[in-house]
Amino acid sequence: MPYVYDFDHAHDRPPRELKELLGGKGANLAEMTSVLDLPVPPGFTVSTDACRACLKGGWPEGLTEEVAEHLATLESRMGKRLGDPSDPLLVSVRSGAASSMPGMMDTVLNLGLNEHSVEGLAKQTDDEAFAQDSYRRFLDLYRDVVLGDDEDAEVPQDPHEQLRQAIEAVFRSWTGPRAVAYRTREHIPHDLGTAVNVQAMVFGNRDDRSGTGVGFTRDPATGAQGVYGDFLVNAQGEDVVAGTRITKPLSALEEEFPDVYAELMDIFERLERHYRDMLDTEFTIEQGKLWMLQTRVGKRTGAAALKQAVAMTTDPGIELTHEEALLRVSGDNLDQVLHPQFAPGDHEIVATGLPASPGAAVGKAQFTADAAVTASRHGDKVILVRSETSPDDVHGLEVAEGVLTSKGGLVSHAAVVARGWGKPAVVGAEAVEIEGSSFTAGGVAVQEGDVISIDGTTGEVAVGEVELAEGEHPPEFEVLLGWADEARGDRLGVWANADTAHDAAQAREYGAEGIGLCRTEHMFLGDRLPLIQRLILADGDEEERPALAELGDVQREDFEAILEAMDGLPVTVRLLDPPLHEFLPDLEELIVAEAKGELDEGGHRLLDAARHWQETNPMLGTRGVRLAVVKDGLYRMQVKALMEAAVERARAGGSPIVEVMIPLVVSREELALARGWVEEEVEAVRGEAGVSLEVKIGTMIETPRAALLAEEIAEAADFFSFGTNDLTQMTYGFSRDDIEGRLMAPYLEQGLLARDPFETLDLAGVGELVRLGVERGRVTKPDLKVGVCGEHGGDPESIDAFFEAGVDYVSCSPFRVPVARLAGAQAVVRRRAA
Ligand code: PEP
Ligand code: MG
Repeated sequence: MPYVYDFDHAHDRPPRELKELLGGKGANLAEMTSVLDLPVPPGFTVSTDACRACLKGGWPEGLTEEVAEHLATLESRMGKRLGDPSDPLLVSVRSGAASSMPGMMDTVLNLGLNEHSVEGLAKQTDDEAFAQDSYRRFLDLYRDVVLGDDEDAEVPQDPHEQLRQAIEAVFRSWTGPRAVAYRTREHIPHDLGTAVNVQAMVFGNRDDRSGTGVGFTRDPATGAQGVYGDFLVNAQGEDVVAGTRITKPLSALEEEFPDVYAELMDIFERLERHYRDMLDTEFTIEQGKLWMLQTRVGKRTGAAALKQAVAMTTDPGIELTHEEALLRVSGDNLDQVLHPQFAPGDHEIVATGLPASPGAAVGKAQFTADAAVTASRHGDKVILVRSETSPDDVHGLEVAEGVLTSKGGLVSHAAVVARGWGKPAVVGAEAVEIEGSSFTAGGVAVQEGDVISIDGTTGEVAVGEVELAEGEHPPEFEVLLGWADEARGDRLGVWANADTAHDAAQAREYGAEGIGLCRTEHMFLGDRLPLIQRLILADGDEEERPALAELGDVQREDFEAILEAMDGLPVTVRLLDPPLHEFLPDLEELIVAEAKGELDEGGHRLLDAARHWQETNPMLGTRGVRLAVVKDGLYRMQVKALMEAAVERARAGGSPIVEVMIPLVVSREELALARGWVEEEVEAVRGEAGVSLEVKIGTMIETPRAALLAEEIAEAADFFSFGTNDLTQMTYGFSRDDIEGRLMAPYLEQGLLARDPFETLDLAGVGELVRLGVERGRVTKPDLKVGVCGEHGGDPESIDAFFEAGVDYVSCSPFRVPVARLAGAQAVVRRRAA
């Protein structure tokens, strides 16, 4: 396989599909050149294969010759030679990975200049100042990107050596800390490598008939039809993105460069029809001639993604099907439109900038990325305030609730990054005058640490805390979810995890088709705590019974409310799961109190109990069904309360549907024992009330053993529900309470884990247990109903894997339900297409 491809190389597939080989930028340059025949300055792409080879074993053999060969082709095409002292060819050298990593990696412009060729450029352009300015830009970039910290190194005069070193520097930038941090944040694998694009330079900074700009074929913030972007006269590309000069809107291009504008509009239309999507482009005008430097499917806000996906189904040039439209939006897009905004009312608005990324945020003003990180470590919510941001600020952006800049346009760094991450951003708020660690705006001074509020939907900035109101769904939200439900049909259910009637009602509103996990532990907290403590402290049956009865009374009310909220839909109640010490005061505090002589008799009993129930590894200890084995009255009480609640509901004319779920099971025998108690209590209440209520009794599969022995366990189960939180913890042996703070970051950064397995299902390990569990359970019971109720039930990628494994429904927190409805539909559509 060659390492280098000209932009017009005849690939055997459309080049836009070859991002992994050519990088996103290279693939689309090739598409524009060879398929669309657009005006693209010629050049070639050094592939990601070469990058990977270089990072692994140094500069690859044969690469020098290949580059030389393609350079020669480029030179003959342009009729100029690199380094020619009379009329030199200049090239740009840019990175371009498969997934876009805006501003994360490096670029060298005007390569090919040296002390002789700069004179040639001056002569050829008849512009000494321009030539010297180009040389200065080149030397600055080269020192910065290629030579880096090496103070003794000099910029080589030999242009071929410049090119070799620049390509190698771009390869190396793949492993730079900025790039690594970005990939970790964006879940981009670290082993892909980047391609390098070497392209003939065109100059937007030649004169006033030149310029450069960025254009979107539709509005990436609102989704509105029509073009959108910024440009600068007499400027080079980076000037627009850096936000250091005030840009003009594309509409001004129509007045200043009418022919170029017409041509650009024509290109936009062709690009949209060809890609059937919204494109983001970079272009340069050199002395009146338009050149396309880049295109890609553009990043957009959630609201824009929803609006465009729906609009493109009826756009005659695009005609997406409903199913294609569904694949165009993501869970993050849905999340974003649920963002809050400033609540209506009188806020003192001190400045209005550009609404760059929707949603409102409140936080303490911090003026550097480092200060933002420090404040956030102290638990502060932070708004990052900068004149503009650069890739060096991403760690500050990452911890901030939102970002405010005084300069820069809608495609500035701050705007692009914030939109990508779904964080509110107000940019280019010129009334905000920053000086060191404070700013003034509208006559008000704001110091570091003062609270401010920003609304990235309107561009408003207020001093102090503004009350926020929940986001409003655009009409496309319901349209797309309607299509999603149609596509999903009954192939994958979406249920919710809810423990209260309030959450249940919310989940139902969001479209949940049942409760897949009602955790009962919260029913023992708050004002119920003394009751469960009485039970724990009870000495023998005599004392236990009244304590259980009292607990039963309050639980019955809880269950009734939930069953009412979910009337007609299944409610899966999980019997008590956490270890008992969680309901007791802290052991150390009790010991201190005892030492100080502050414990009364009750206090001493609590201390004894805390000592008795203390566990060193509680997540693997006396919890779940194990707890019931040593205190079986507990589960009986819960089932009785649940059944009485159901009977009440039935008598009131409701249709309660009850499922009981036993947690943390490891064997058939254990489940059979617990099932026995449940059946007895169900029978007792049914018999007494004289009503017939069907109750399904199932188990959670959350230990590796349960997954492996699913065939046996299914004998005692009416259904399975995978508790993938515990299953992940036990498969990895990672304590779920400790891993996130201590180990997850280094594991992700060093590539030891590709993803946080508590967020996205580990397909290879935990996923295999899920597949096995489903398969083996259905050996015993072919129609066994199987759900998932761990956090992964709301994660789109995991949902896809669950569907593939044959799961019947996923269950997730109420506010994830819309995301799961969409992801479920996407899984169905993708499988159908495959
Ligand atoms: C699980 O383990 O995945 C689960 C849903 O139960 P919990 O998170 O309550 O342990
Ligand atoms: Mg669990």
